[in-house]
Amino acid sequence: AVVFLIDTPFVKQQRKIKGSEVVSWSKGVLGVAQKPVVISGPSGVGKGTLIAKLMKEYPSKFGFSVSHTTRSPRVKEIDGVHYHFAGRSKMEQDISEGEFLEFAHVHGNLYGTSIEAVESVTDEGKRCILDIDVQGARSVRASSLEAIFIFVCPPSFEELEKRLRARGTETEEQIQKRLRNARAELDQSNSPGLFDHLLVNDNLEACYENLKKLLSLDDDHKDSDGCFIEDGKATACYSIMSKTESEVFLQSETGEVVKAAANLLAVDLSSLTGGAPGRTRGLKIHSINSI
Ligand code: ADP
Ligand code: 5GP
Repeated sequence: AVVFLIDTPFVKQQRKIKGSEVVSWSKGVLGVAQKPVVISGPSGVGKGTLIAKLMKEYPSKFGFSVSHTTRSPRVKEIDGVHYHFAGRSKMEQDISEGEFLEFAHVHGNLYGTSIEAVESVTDEGKRCILDIDVQGARSVRASSLEAIFIFVCPPSFEELEKRLRARGTETEEQIQKRLRNARAELDQSNSPGLFDHLLVNDNLEACYENLKKLLSLDDDHKDSDGCFIEDGKATACYSIMSKTESEVFLQSETGEVVKAAANLLAVDLSSLTGGAPGRTRGLKIHSINSI
């Protein structure tokens, strides 16, 4: 099976024009990309705080998957940075068109991770961090995205309530709803095969240290940061010339081939691992010829 044919609008259009299968990417990562990190936990437990610390300490290593949501922005939230704030009908439309990796109804609003959100981080060569709820974690588990799943627990329910109130971003009604949902989320934290790690966020610094430890311990590909075929002006587009059991030969179609690549590529199929769905990822192009 050719696993890297992607139904982006661009690919659909190219396929229609050419009447044949096409492969396209804007940036191909050579080498195995690092597994994204999914962080879940009840509202107010400190997920955002931990993620912000990680991104501040390692700005070039980690990137945040900016989710879409139908909830209203909080005072300090910036559209496109914390969330893509979206209208419900547009978001539902985009979901139905297959643009989302996962979505869920959480605390009365629709939240979701677009494929683009994960891909744009991975395209920068960074490890992607997703802050999503338990339903979302379940969906990602069931998807083709290989990730590490971490659940953050509060030291106690009382402390969770205290933090949520102290944050001062929700109405009383919203706080009550979030606390009710927290019980269900905490119940699911031990769901078999769902989370790889549980972290208790009691003392923030101690929890942060544990998070860091866990990420480097779990980092299967610590030393392979991947290298890039730099983005050309336009998306390079290749059509499939021929296939064998282990290789696919691609012929450039656009002429605007990415810098490091050439007109004819041979792609080793065994190297197609560890990627996010949506685009080519982790390709080992072991022979590149100009014709
Ligand atoms: P989440 O993203 O999980 O909803 P936040 O990161 O917004 O939670 O944290 C909720 C509140 O709790 C914030 O005001 C934050 O400053 C505070 N907080 C986070 N971690 C701790 C901790 N370990 N001890 C005390 N307060 C914390
Ligand atoms: P908040 O409104 O506090 O930002 O987020 C509420 C909950 O929605 C949190 O549990 C957060 O993890 C979750 N959430 C945020 N983005 C997404 C997403 O893209 N998908 C899913 N499933 N949950 C999300």
